[in-house]
Amino acid sequence: MRVWIDQDLCTGDGICIDHCPDVFVQLEDGIAYVAENGAPLNDPGGSGSLAWVTGRNAADVVHAAEACPGECIFIEVDIPVAALGDEDAGDNAAA
Ligand code: SF4
Repeated sequence: MRVWIDQDLCTGDGICIDHCPDVFVQLEDGIAYVAENGAPLNDPGGSGSLAWVTGRNAADVVHAAEACPGECIFIEVDIPVAALGDEDAGDNAAA
C-alpha cells in the first residue's frame, strides 16, 4: 500500500500527523507531506511523493485519510498480479 498527499488541498491542521507520525510530517511551509523511513518526500504532484506504508501503519494511515478535512490523502492499494483472475488476464491480452 502506498500513500500520497495533494498539498494543494491540505489545510495544515495536522490531523494526519496525530494519527500516524511515522508516515505524515509537517514541513516549514505548514503543509503535510508523506515520509518514508523517516525522510519526507517533498515532490508535490510527482511520483516521488508516493510513500510505501508498512503493515504496522496501514490502519492508522486509513484512519488519517478518513479524518482528513481536506480529503487530500490518497491511498493506492497494490493488487498482486497473481490475485487477478484468468478473465482479467484475457482482457488485458486483448487490449
Ligand atoms: S489531515 Fe489532511 S488537511 Fe490535515 S494536515 Fe493532514 S493532509 Fe493536510
